Amino acid sequence: MSFESLNLNPALVQALAAAGYTEPTPVQAKSIPPALTGFDLMVSAPTGTGKTAAFVLPALHRLALAPAKNGRGPRVLVLTPTRELALQVTAAVDKYCKFMRHMRTGTVLGGMPYPKQRRLLEQSLDVLVATPGRLIDFIDQGKVDFSRLELLILDEADRMLDMGFIEPVKRIAAKTPATRQTMLFSATLDGNIAKLARELLRDPQRIEVAAPEQKHENIAQRIHYVDDGSHKHRLLEHVLRQEGQAQVIVFTATKHGADRLADKLFHGGHEAAALHGNMNQSQRNRTLARLRSGAVRVLVATDVAARGIDVASISHVINFDLPKVAEDYVHRIGRTGRAGATGTAISFASSEDVRQLKQIERYIGRAIERWSEPGFEAKNPMRSTDAPKRTGRRPPPGARRGAPPARGGFRSDNRRSAGGSR
Ligand code: ADP
Ligand code: MG
Repeated sequence: MSFESLNLNPALVQALAAAGYTEPTPVQAKSIPPALTGFDLMVSAPTGTGKTAAFVLPALHRLALAPAKNGRGPRVLVLTPTRELALQVTAAVDKYCKFMRHMRTGTVLGGMPYPKQRRLLEQSLDVLVATPGRLIDFIDQGKVDFSRLELLILDEADRMLDMGFIEPVKRIAAKTPATRQTMLFSATLDGNIAKLARELLRDPQRIEVAAPEQKHENIAQRIHYVDDGSHKHRLLEHVLRQEGQAQVIVFTATKHGADRLADKLFHGGHEAAALHGNMNQSQRNRTLARLRSGAVRVLVATDVAARGIDVASISHVINFDLPKVAEDYVHRIGRTGRAGATGTAISFASSEDVRQLKQIERYIGRAIERWSEPGFEAKNPMRSTDAPKRTGRRPPPGARRGAPPARGGFRSDNRRSAGGSR
């Protein structure tokens, strides 16, 4: 299938070609036609499958048509849970509307000074991308005109609920015209999401893409058992030293932990930096820019801060601490293997993590390969009954000591380091 056959505006097709996209992803192919028809949508698809374009393209297509009402307020509103994601959606809008005339996009998000955003809202706007908290502030100040809003989009709705944005989201929706079209995107459509959808959507089409992407076949996933914190540090150091050019995101459980680990790595000679919610927006932007430029090679991050990071050169994700919520595991590993690349995700697990690990494996529907670095084996590996049987193809003999790397050189490095000291 081609983008042309979706009957998108030619200026969009041109921008997609310029972006190097040859065909719609499954979620785009399924969502764009009903979205163009005007249906409300509730859509779930795994991370990294192109959901942004699945809503930005129909939104822009619509904006190329004359507005139904006169006015200055935004015609399209996108709500996102985090500032990073808001900026990323804005960048996607800018990318896809490159060949359209007079498209005005604005972003309203927390952690940034108010005056500039206030001025932005006073201007005439086509697309507004916002995080709920800050937008509510402006609504309360009477600064937002939704009288001509045609399309409301909730991106990562599940995460917005997790972050406690349900009331702000409902309040914002209530300020928009009842005639609007609404599209909700989420990793899952169960429970509270379904409830929210019932409140905000009208006769929605439900689109669910499980697809092979859910299996993350382009990401080699491994568990490395660890004895304790100091073992984790030694192992991390070893793993980071193995990687030549690759960029790595290391996840920690807490903001404080991220700071400490980034400091330690930095002083150990790594181009490391932390990214978490206690940093102000300009610090976060700066760190992300340095990650994109390659100046930061090891980013130590927390879950929320790393959501939506889309940097194609990230070859490895390391779960220094396992995520507390199984779903976050999928979001974390989805930071690698972007845009068709391959990646490696290594999770450190101690005997305290048995239950969490099981939950993760249940959530992703398969066992993660147990693997150990020669010379860095845990003294007390978890009881063998804790290690689920591998499903699918068995690795070739010896692969337990480092399966063929998705990218980067674990295997050859293994050989070099075999028998090496800690
Ligand atoms: P999601 O929101 O589902 O996690 P994104 O919208 O962030 O995924 O897209 C993931 C990556 O895929 C981005 O780098 C994006 O530019 C790229 N992408 C999106 N659609 C296509 C396409 N049709 N062809 C190739 N790459 C695409
Ligand atoms: Mg997304």
